[in-house]
Amino acid sequence: MAVPLHPSTRWLDDLLGLFYPNLCYACDRNLPSGQSDPICLTCRYKLPQTDHHLHLENAFTERLWGRLELQTAAAFFQFVKDGRAQRLLYHLKYNGKQEVGRYIGKWYGEVLRSVPAYQSVEAIVPVPLHPRKEKMRGYNQADWFAKGLGESMDRPVVQALRRVVFTQTQTRMTRAERQVNVRQAFEPVAGVDLSGRHVLLVDDVVTTGATLEACGAELLRYSNLKLSMAAIAIAD
Ligand SMILES: [Zn+2]
Repeated sequence: MAVPLHPSTRWLDDLLGLFYPNLCYACDRNLPSGQSDPICLTCRYKLPQTDHHLHLENAFTERLWGRLELQTAAAFFQFVKDGRAQRLLYHLKYNGKQEVGRYIGKWYGEVLRSVPAYQSVEAIVPVPLHPRKEKMRGYNQADWFAKGLGESMDRPVVQALRRVVFTQTQTRMTRAERQVNVRQAFEPVAGVDLSGRHVLLVDDVVTTGATLEACGAELLRYSNLKLSMAAIAIAD
């Protein structure tokens, strides 16, 4: 009896899809069966992209203005409450979907690598989580975004910082409390030298900018380091 060497499992995917449909991480609607992208076509078009990468100075750099010396900074999406970018970040941070961070990173990396201000980037540094928090979550979402950016931009991801102060969830704190809370939270990792390098510091979302500022200040201790930043989304 002839047995096909590579039996199609499409019927199995379709059958399982009836019970466990693959959902788009930005709108939670069913993806067409067989689609490997974690975001549907509609969301690819409708996710609210910023134009930060087209301007050296923009809403992101303005948020950190006067706080530390930046080459430039760009966030991919505008964070809108109950919007697509918020759903995406929910899945990335709280629902164990780290792969979506890498997917967004690859996508944004394709955008940034065509922009002169980002072509001189030599290393990508993710904002670290405290080891205890990373253990609880199982991963650092910024690592996965950095990984995707690194693949598209063909640059190494360097773990140059570590978080030494464990901070409880910051959502109930005032802006001033958060800044005090985070200011002393990071240290450079021994054995890494980024002197003279152009570094892209990356995080998932920019709110007050306090975390990025604290990490950036640590990186700027290296002599002649040039600092740029990238994030998945910026909140108002
Ligand atoms: Zn969608």
